[in-house]
Amino acid sequence: MIASSIGEERRYEYDVLVIGAGGAGLRAAIAASATGAKVGVVCKSLLGKAHTVMAEGGIAAALANVDDRDGWQVHFADTLRGGQYLNNPHMAEIHAQEAPARVRELEAWGALFDRTADGRILQRNFGGHRYPRLAHVGDRTGLEMIRTLQDHGIHQGIEFHMECTVALLLKDGLRVTGAFGYERERGRFLVFSAGAVVLATGGIGRAFEVTSNSWEYTGDGHALAYEAGAELMDMEFVQFHPTGMVWPPSVHGLLVTEGVRGEGGVLRNREGRRFMFDDIPELYKNQTADNEEEGWRYCQGDKTARRPPELLTRDHVARCIVREIKEGRGSAHGGVLLDISWIRSRIPNAEVHIKKKLPSMYHQFKELAGIDITKEPMEVGPTTHYMMGGVRVDAWTQMSSVSGLFAAGECAAGLHGANRLGGNSLSDLLVFGQRAGEHAAQFARGQGRSAPDPAQIDAAAERLLAPFARPAGEGPYAIQRELQVMMQSQVGIVRNGGEMSHALEALAAFRQRASRVAVYGHREYNPGWHTALDLENLLVVSEAITRAALERRESRGAQFREDFPDKDKALGQVNVVVQKGDDGEMRIARAPLVPMTEEQRRIVEEMK
Ligand SMILES: Cc1cc2nc3c(=O)[nH]c(=O)nc-3n(C[C@H](O)[C@H](O)[C@H](O)COP(=O)(O)OP(=O)(O)OC[C@H]3O[C@@H](n4cnc5c(N)ncnc54)[C@H](O)[C@@H]3O)c2cc1C
Repeated sequence: MIASSIGEERRYEYDVLVIGAGGAGLRAAIAASATGAKVGVVCKSLLGKAHTVMAEGGIAAALANVDDRDGWQVHFADTLRGGQYLNNPHMAEIHAQEAPARVRELEAWGALFDRTADGRILQRNFGGHRYPRLAHVGDRTGLEMIRTLQDHGIHQGIEFHMECTVALLLKDGLRVTGAFGYERERGRFLVFSAGAVVLATGGIGRAFEVTSNSWEYTGDGHALAYEAGAELMDMEFVQFHPTGMVWPPSVHGLLVTEGVRGEGGVLRNREGRRFMFDDIPELYKNQTADNEEEGWRYCQGDKTARRPPELLTRDHVARCIVREIKEGRGSAHGGVLLDISWIRSRIPNAEVHIKKKLPSMYHQFKELAGIDITKEPMEVGPTTHYMMGGVRVDAWTQMSSVSGLFAAGECAAGLHGANRLGGNSLSDLLVFGQRAGEHAAQFARGQGRSAPDPAQIDAAAERLLAPFARPAGEGPYAIQRELQVMMQSQVGIVRNGGEMSHALEALAAFRQRASRVAVYGHREYNPGWHTALDLENLLVVSEAITRAALERRESRGAQFREDFPDKDKALGQVNVVVQKGDDGEMRIARAPLVPMTEEQRRIVEEMK
């Protein structure tokens, strides 16, 4: 039985509507509201429960508090090297230059970072960063960041709509003028009119079977932008973090922070070999230790030492782990061993030190796996973690190719290229969240608001309610689960053209099934209904990932193709862009990279 509507839809008007209340959304809302704009924020779950709160290791910013050789130029060059030079160089430059100010601002707003002996913000080592660069709060940095932004934002007069999901962007001609969504709790519809809309919806991890992402990350912002006509870019680059928990099965995929390796944790195979020393890429040879002693000295702050190979970029470490597992040298439950307990042989009070530096990891393994990480190694393996691909935006304003639509944070693309360095997401949220909010407010001032189009609202309401009108159809959960398993096995860490072509056929079949999906009961808190609607977004992002990955016939950064294991020079000059065609089909194009300025090129050469 369907549920008839529970009253009229609710209507709201804002200068700037922000979709998402993670770090990017909150920072955008604060910036927009600081200009005097009326700002509304919508989020799928409760305020404070965004992905950002889960961030562990830290915020990358060249504060140079621990190593005075650091500076924005080094951070810029590290980010481009990590992204295999597919990054938008202007975004990388703005990010490296503005991150320190954004971190200090967070401190001024009340964030309590860990401290150096002389009282400055402490910074830790992380993969791909030449110097210790991550400002952190133990391994609970995201919690402190979101708490601070919320405390600050809540006093700015911003209106929050919690447990509400946006399902469509409303347009007036070519311009985005609002959004349509529903309250998860009551099932009532919501209509927002806005002078500008900022997407800050985070990632897509739930398109895969094994992921560190929570239930919210179904690529909604990516799909909303795509349906509104915006371009998506770099969708082939999905980051598989090298270290997720593999055991017990109930926590498979849960993140094990890179901070463990930053604090001296080492990776070993079942034979006890530190296999990361066996494969150090040419690009990183002169920055990487070639013996265990030097690696340890680096973790202890010895400025003459090079970083251990465990701190190579995530794409590379993940592939090395997969190789060990595939070649039969994996751990008991199909992972490898990550050991921080070995530092007991090097420092006094190691147990206390580990618990202080990695309190969440200690707790996570103790409670969930019965492992004491101060005494024994953890079993880890790759987990779907982060989406480099997203809405293609202008580097300075964060506006997409659709007028009035801005994007920031994980759902935007450009900063990270083919691979994101750890810690560069939290700084991305602060830097580009701030810019998106400010520019969205500026845009809104020039445009004003237009009345929502009743035809668009009626069509959206009909689409959202359609699953209630198909009592004999299939439920959404089985389709979602099969989609995740298929994406993991056919479009996962190791890809090939044959499997991905099959994936496209499978996606077409899932789409057919999804168009007949049925849900039962009432609109009031109905998770089956929510899953049916999320499924549409998962299908859009899964197809975009697969088509972009097929187009990139090479291995680079996070994309590894066993049928094209090398880099291709021509493909190293382009980003892959996805857009909805006039016929409703997905279009794929190659767009030339944004060229570097002479100065940027000089910095890159100097830092090689
Ligand atoms: C376990 C873990 C640890 C991490 N550690 C680090 C780290 O140490 N350093 C680092 O730099 N990065 C880290 N990351 C990555 C980083 O946390 C994320 O990339 C980042 O927090 C994303 O922030 P965001 O603001 O873009 O989106 P999120 O924080 O993901 O927030 C998205 C928001 O959008 C809302 N939303 C989504 N869809 C809709 C919709 N349809 N309608 C309304 N609202 C919607 C959600 O409810 C949420 O409020 C980590 C990630 C994980 C999972």
